[in-house]
Amino acid sequence: MKYTTLLSKPSKTAPHDADSANAKYLMQAGFVHQEMAGVYSWLPLGLRVLKKVENIIREELDAIGAQEILMPALQPKENWDKTGRWNEVDVLFKIKSQTDREYGLGPTHEEIVTPLVGSFVNSYKDLPTAVYQIQTKYRDELRAKSGILRGREFGMKDLYSFHTNQEDLEEYYELVKQTYLKIFKRCGLDAKIVESSGGDFTKKYSHEFQVITPAGEDDILACPDCTYAQNIEIATMKAGDACPACGGKLESVKGIEIGNIFDLNEKFTKAFGVKYTDENGEQKTPIMGCYGIGTTRLVGSIVEAHHDDKGMIWPSEVAPADVHLVTLNSKDEAVSERIRTVADGLYGDLEKNGKKVFWDDREDASAGEKLGVADLMGMPLRILVSSKSLEQNGIEVKRRDEGEAKIVNLDNISSLFE
Ligand SMILES: [Zn+2]
Repeated sequence: MKYTTLLSKPSKTAPHDADSANAKYLMQAGFVHQEMAGVYSWLPLGLRVLKKVENIIREELDAIGAQEILMPALQPKENWDKTGRWNEVDVLFKIKSQTDREYGLGPTHEEIVTPLVGSFVNSYKDLPTAVYQIQTKYRDELRAKSGILRGREFGMKDLYSFHTNQEDLEEYYELVKQTYLKIFKRCGLDAKIVESSGGDFTKKYSHEFQVITPAGEDDILACPDCTYAQNIEIATMKAGDACPACGGKLESVKGIEIGNIFDLNEKFTKAFGVKYTDENGEQKTPIMGCYGIGTTRLVGSIVEAHHDDKGMIWPSEVAPADVHLVTLNSKDEAVSERIRTVADGLYGDLEKNGKKVFWDDREDASAGEKLGVADLMGMPLRILVSSKSLEQNGIEVKRRDEGEAKIVNLDNISSLFE
């Protein structure tokens, strides 16, 4: 991908009304575009990150036997009446059709997935089963804020599992917990598992996954020495107390919730009359767990956790490109020609070796401008080809998360493909 052909060019200044690092940098770099409060378009480079995040989630969930489906965002009111949530969920977007039928725009999908899975489950032999989707969700927030962290339209992965007994559900719940930690780690995030109250619909327990960052909106009591953490809303301890897991000193910190998991028990299966026949021929109600990850929110959280005062610093597995290639023109046309030839060869070789390259190929931009854009966009590796680097028969290579650049000899550049 080249700068000159990229639709969404970065802007020189940050948006004046950005209330968080993710809003500021993602918009300034041209990764997302705000359409209205809490609603964003995803532009080429931002969409690359989002797709990478989604694919990490897919790989890890497929690996634990969950099956991907896609359910409608438009949901009939009747289903929400059955669970009593039409008037209970205050963030539910409600719309009326020309024929006066009422619909909800899904903020979650228990009202669809429960009867759907129920229509395929007849016997205990059909259980356990788990399905997930990656889909756009809607929340009628009073106040959208914090860039893509809390929007009215957002991406989410929601997984639902169905079981014959509590032990089986708990085993799967633990498996998902460990899988989530793997997913977040691959996204460059160190998440804490936080015990929480579980809102209004959980019978037994629920857990949140929190990224600890000053930009967070939740108050967490966390141990700096181990994974122990509690949401302050339900915490029985206070900052300074000894960690019950390791004895460390608990700290009060801010977190961004990037995932949550709930034991739903029979709440939804009962409401929809879902039954299966057990080993003795008796009709039983299956129990259910649900597990969410905000995909667009995850992208925002990565920016909150990985940036400095110059811009974003993408962890390599989710970066929109591996390499940010910068060419600096020389006043000497012959040298400029050589710079272009070297960069062109490098671009081709890197792409051929499976590396994604973003090339700032502008002829009319200054060195300062180009390096500023490289820092703002935050690709993991910056490669600079200039008259200065060619004088040393090399290219200048710098990692975004390190201060020092080094010259790599032109005969030695295959080392970059490793
Ligand atoms: Zn501890």
